[in-house]
Formats: sequence, C-alpha cells, structure tokens
Amino acid sequence: MAHLDAYNRPISYLRISVTDRCNLRCVYCMPPEGVPWRPHEDILRYEEIETVVRAAAELGISKVRLTGGEPLVRLGLADLVRALARIPGIDDLAITTNGILLARYAEELAQAGLHRVNVSLDTLRPERFRRITRLGRLEDVLAGMEAARQADLDPIKINTVVIRGMNDDEVVDFARQTREAAWNVRFIELMPVGNGGLLDGQWEERAVTAREIRERIEAALGGLEAAKMRAGSGPARYYRLPGARGTLGFITPISEHFCYQCNRLRLTADGQLRPCLLSDAELDLRTPLRQGATVAEIKGLLLEGIAHKPMQHHIGIGDCERPENRVMSEIGG
Ligand code: SAM
Ligand code: SF4
Repeated sequence: MAHLDAYNRPISYLRISVTDRCNLRCVYCMPPEGVPWRPHEDILRYEEIETVVRAAAELGISKVRLTGGEPLVRLGLADLVRALARIPGIDDLAITTNGILLARYAEELAQAGLHRVNVSLDTLRPERFRRITRLGRLEDVLAGMEAARQADLDPIKINTVVIRGMNDDEVVDFARQTREAAWNVRFIELMPVGNGGLLDGQWEERAVTAREIRERIEAALGGLEAAKMRAGSGPARYYRLPGARGTLGFITPISEHFCYQCNRLRLTADGQLRPCLLSDAELDLRTPLRQGATVAEIKGLLLEGIAHKPMQHHIGIGDCERPENRVMSEIGG
C-alpha cells in the first residue's frame, strides 16, 4: 500500500533523473551553450539508485520512470533497467526520452524489462525540429518510435510542449495524426523552470493554455470525446477525435494544477530527493548513500520527503514565484 502524505495523497510514483547530460539543447529546457555538467562523481551510481528504489518499493511505490537529461546517453542504462525490473513491487517501469537514441536501444531495453516509453516530440517538421532542439534530427526520433513499437514498449506516449510562435500552429497537425496512427499525444503547458534560455523573460508570452490548444483543435477538426488510457494515465486528461486510433491528452501544470492528486517524488541525478518539481526544497540522499546507508535508513529519508511534500505549487500566469536552483534537465520533468 502506498504511503499517504500530509494531505492524504498516496505516494506511488518515483521519477529518477539518471543523468544531467543531454544530446539536445531544447530551447525551453537549456540555454544554447548548455549547462555545466556535474562531475561524474556527483552522479548517483546504479547501485545507489537501486538502493533508493528498493526503499521506495518497500514504501508502496510501484511506478518508476527514468528520465534525465537524456536517459539514453547514460552508458549501460539497460543494466539499471534489469536491476530495477527485478525489485518486488515495481510493476510499472518506464522512461522518458527525446527518442534520438531509441532506435539503437529499444529492443535491449525491452529485453531488460522496461515496460513503456514516453517520447518528447514538439514538431513534425524537420527544420523546425532542429530549431527547437538546436541539435537533433526528426527522422531519428521517428525511427526510435517505430523501434519502440516493434519492441512492444507500449503504449507509447508523445509529450509535446506547446510554445507560442514556435510550434503552436502544429497542434492541429498532431491531432490529425491520431486519426490514422495509434499515437497518444499529450500536450504540455510550458513551465517556468530553471534558466532554459527561452524562458528568461518570455515565459508568459510563450505559454499556451491547454484550453486554447483544445479550442484550436476542435475548431479545425470537430469536437473531442473522452477516452480511457490503459497504463499510467497520470495527470493528463485523455480525449480522442471520433473514430481516431490514437488519443489526445492535456497536461495542465499551470492553468489547472493537479497538485491535489500528485502522487510523485523525484530524485535528481546528483541524488537529491525533490518532493515537488516546482519547489526548490530538496533532501540529500547521496551523502547518506555514500556513507553506507541501508535500505531501512533510506526509507526513513523517503518518509521525511513524503512528509514535506507541499500542498501545491504557487506558479501561475501573472505570478512570479518560481523555482530557481535547477534547469529542467537536472530534474527530469
Ligand atoms: N530528455 C528527455 C526528454 O526530453 O524526454 C527527458 C528529460 S526532459 C527534461 C522531460 C520532459 O520535460 C520532456 O518531455 C520535456 O519536453 C519537458 N520539459 C522540459 N522543459 C520544460 C518546460 N520548461 N516546460 C514544460 N515541459 C518541459
Ligand atoms: Fe534534453 Fe530533454 Fe531538455 Fe530537450 S527537454 S534539452 S531533450 S533534457
């Protein structure tokens, strides 16, 4: 049974950033020059991550997601997946990836015990893809998604951050794709986290609410129907175009926060437990891990983190309180 926090929310989900490094520089996540990588010795080793997940599983956490930075740039990720997949109580093991290296690793990850992937994809236009990610090639991501499908890593969800003046004119194109392809597209509102270049001073004019996205889709393609998702539906609400094979989801951290049902903890690549994505408060797990803390001791620290989950974040359009100490690539989204 999942533990309840101070506001009676069952905490069942741990998101782990396995690296702060990335092979892209998305405009909303990092400045063009990137961020200084943390030294290797600051990053949790796989055995240390495994200890945290064992402790989490004993507290009733059943869902784990590996993220980054870009999780697939960390060497031997399949070894970590294999170790975590064996931990009793972990029944949903997923990654969030930019998809660039997915074609290379999908089969190996599936064999190691990975269940699902979420792929971040903000545009269907190659030259625009390059502009948003600054480094990547759209065709690599599409090949990665196809490899994941063939490896039965499903349902594959596509995360699309919508940015005014950059890709907001494509929301209808994404929706149209779901008619023929079994894509589960989730539109995500832009969040003001860290100092990712574009966000400096531009966040409010660049952010697009889920409501506006939905209105644009419905004006072009007609009304949406409510839809059910099989696994790990999280905070998104799902819909589909009548008769479509795929679904459309909306994740609204800003316009309609879902803090009252937040079930997650986060572990940063350098071993800090972060009870809320949008609050800078953190609890150090790396020092005790390196001093030889047992699973029981880490459980105690996780319980402390759970007890300190804030009721909600306080970020809204026109409201300037925001987390400052990390960029998104260090927390993992
Ligand atoms: N590199 C992987 C990827 O891009 O999927 C995993 C890490 S990335 C930080 C996780 C998710 O956070 C991605 O879907 C990304 O689009 C999203 N993200 C990053 N910065 C964001 C921001 N400022 N607002 C909203 N979502 C953001
Ligand atoms: Fe890298 Fe993901 Fe951030 Fe893009 S969103 S820069 S892929 S960590």
